[in-house]
Amino acid sequence: MVLERPGEALQARTMADPEPAPGQLRLRVSACAVCRTDLHLRDAEIEATKLPVVLGHQIVGTTDDGRRVGVPWLGWTDGECRYCRQGRENLCISARFTGRDIDGGYAETTVADERFCLELPGELSDVQAAPLLCGGLIGYRALRLAGDAARLGLYGFGSAAHQICQVAVHQGREVYAVTRPGDERTQRFASGLGATWTGGSDESPPEQLDGALIFASVGELVPAALHALAPGGTVVCAGIHMSDIPSFPYEDLWHERTIRSVANLTREDGHEFLALAREVPVHTTVTTYALADAERALADLRDGRFSGAAVLIP
Ligand SMILES: [Zn+2]
Ligand SMILES: [Zn+2]
Repeated sequence: MVLERPGEALQARTMADPEPAPGQLRLRVSACAVCRTDLHLRDAEIEATKLPVVLGHQIVGTTDDGRRVGVPWLGWTDGECRYCRQGRENLCISARFTGRDIDGGYAETTVADERFCLELPGELSDVQAAPLLCGGLIGYRALRLAGDAARLGLYGFGSAAHQICQVAVHQGREVYAVTRPGDERTQRFASGLGATWTGGSDESPPEQLDGALIFASVGELVPAALHALAPGGTVVCAGIHMSDIPSFPYEDLWHERTIRSVANLTREDGHEFLALAREVPVHTTVTTYALADAERALADLRDGRFSGAAVLIP
């Protein structure tokens, strides 16, 4: 399923099987989870750097020699820029990302640089494991950057938040889940995963939060989350795209509150999160779609029609 022109529907295309370059694995795709970033690329909200492009950066696939691997968003780095040398490969100036700069997993077959492929917990099925590869990994990086927040707000309760809620509860934190106003289905979903409190973005959590992770791409949530923070707390914006952030009184930032973003992931994040996901263990809630229905999966994500994550099956 190919994105030819941002803003237009993905098209089913028959393409030659990709040939692995030196260092790449050829993968038979068994599942590829859908990320909000895919939707932003599809909707021309972030720039597609390569067109046409096969989207998809949460790929579970099998190598020619029968090994199961996961392919995340970070697809290649130069290994030598100042960020790579400092162990911050997520900020590599030449990084190439799966499903944006490199054809991804909305396909039956793909290729991936072996050094960036991740080993997956053996007990999870392909469909269950796929959403770990971005929702889980980026969510985990966001959680880490919020420090040891005992009361944690999750703004936007989709693929990432439903995994991080389980991790946070496992770590003994209280989770406050904030959804679209009136979205009772998602609020019940969050409660079922251990959230202490659920409510709409038009409500205020009953306690001051020590950290807030924003997964929804709605800029208005930043001052709202900041306003809900205890002194010293951190708001982490975990998405690649967000609408403009409205202004807010300095008093809400005062007392050492922090607003920061998360960009991409390192391979170390991947290894740490996948080990943690096995320990918790994280159970993903998935809705599956045939690969040919990728456009419908993206529409359902846009409209909030499913709980958890969507996964495409070739
Ligand atoms: Zn680099
Ligand atoms: Zn993603």
